[in-house]
Amino acid sequence: MASTMDGLTTEQRDVIALVRDFVEREIIPVAHHLEYDDTYPEAIVAKMKELGFFGFAIDEQWGGAGLNMETYARVCEEIARGWMSITGVINTHFIVAFLLQQFGTDEQRQRFLPKMATGEYHAAFSMSEPNCGSDVQAIRTRAVRDNGEYVIDGTKMWVTNGERSTVVATLVKTDPSAKPAHKGMACILAEKRYPGLSASKHINKLGYKGVETTELVFDGNRQPEANLLGGVEGRGFQQMMAAIEVGRINVAARGVGVAQRAFELALAYAQERQTFGKPIAEHQAIQFKLADMATKIEAARLLTQKAARTKDRGERTDLESGMAKLFATETCMEVVNEAMRIHGGYGFSREFEIEQLYRDAPLLCIGEGTNEIQRIIIAKRLLEKARG
Ligand SMILES: Cc1cc2nc3c(=O)[nH]c(=O)nc-3n(C[C@H](O)[C@H](O)[C@H](O)COP(=O)(O)OP(=O)(O)OC[C@H]3O[C@@H](n4cnc5c(N)ncnc54)[C@H](O)[C@@H]3O)c2cc1C
Repeated sequence: MASTMDGLTTEQRDVIALVRDFVEREIIPVAHHLEYDDTYPEAIVAKMKELGFFGFAIDEQWGGAGLNMETYARVCEEIARGWMSITGVINTHFIVAFLLQQFGTDEQRQRFLPKMATGEYHAAFSMSEPNCGSDVQAIRTRAVRDNGEYVIDGTKMWVTNGERSTVVATLVKTDPSAKPAHKGMACILAEKRYPGLSASKHINKLGYKGVETTELVFDGNRQPEANLLGGVEGRGFQQMMAAIEVGRINVAARGVGVAQRAFELALAYAQERQTFGKPIAEHQAIQFKLADMATKIEAARLLTQKAARTKDRGERTDLESGMAKLFATETCMEVVNEAMRIHGGYGFSREFEIEQLYRDAPLLCIGEGTNEIQRIIIAKRLLEKARG
């Protein structure tokens, strides 16, 4: 495959260009309006399915495009630049695709992946519960084996795509007495078609509008044993932790995309708005802000790409994806804040896109493991390395 000046192959550049064009034509013109009304982007999602976006990170043998993580991260950046919520529609889908490709049985891959590649099946993933998010091993949702099935009871919280998804990769406890607790955990590919599984409540959020985030109740829900990921109990925690690194790279890329959009808006506004007889872009105080914003965005982009390339090599990536997620999302918060200030009073108006970015950015510091948890992961790994 021919490589270009920026290190990308022609194929990678074509995919990124296709997505960029899609974002310019189909997302940016309508996103602000849909976001304002908290409306699900039906038409955008339908077109994404048509164009094969739901198969981007699924191997070609299952009908997907087989994009590597590096390309996927760049695609997420482009989409988030248009509207962050759209990256949420596909993020959980690809976390589950990763789970299946990495840990699923052949039968599970054959059953789920071709339908996921077309978007006929839409996947969500669920670890968090009302009582715990960071402390994953404290989950209470229980699955009991009974006559060739798992009977699941419990309440899950914060499930992105909780209502519209067809299948939810769900972390459960099969042995609540296990010590350490993670040894008693499993991941079940819970299909909505089996009764006793419902998205009970849509959570009203500050930002990240359009895409639904729900509570999910399992009430005597029976899933076939064949839906136990990889056919093994006791591995659910490790499986989820490996998959969440895909989510962390997605979130880091979102941070870069949202920050990039905020920067572009600020740059344009700074050249239009006049104070004291000249565009504010000619005041050095504004120039310094623009310089810092662009520099940090570029650094965040490079960290994100490094993490994605490490994942592509099949290496352990907790350090790289943790650093990328931490830096890109904190940068995003900072850049969005500065971009709003450059807009002056108009930045506070709902008529300007910048206030939406300001409401979207904080989620990135929380989702896929808070930034406090990222710091713990990074420090742990650094100390491990130092001890040899
Ligand atoms: C919009 C949205 C969508 C989401 N989508 C999903 C989804 O699809 N699937 C899913 O499973 N989850 C999802 N989540 C949940 C998300 O992963 C959790 O909110 C996140 O992991 C934090 O957990 P928590 O909210 O329970 O906070 P807690 O774990 O209660 O943490 C509260 C605070 O304490 C800090 N803290 C916790 N432990 C420590 C520690 N040891 N040291 C220092 N500080 C600590 C945290 O950083 C945080 O600041 C979503 C959340 C949101 C807001």
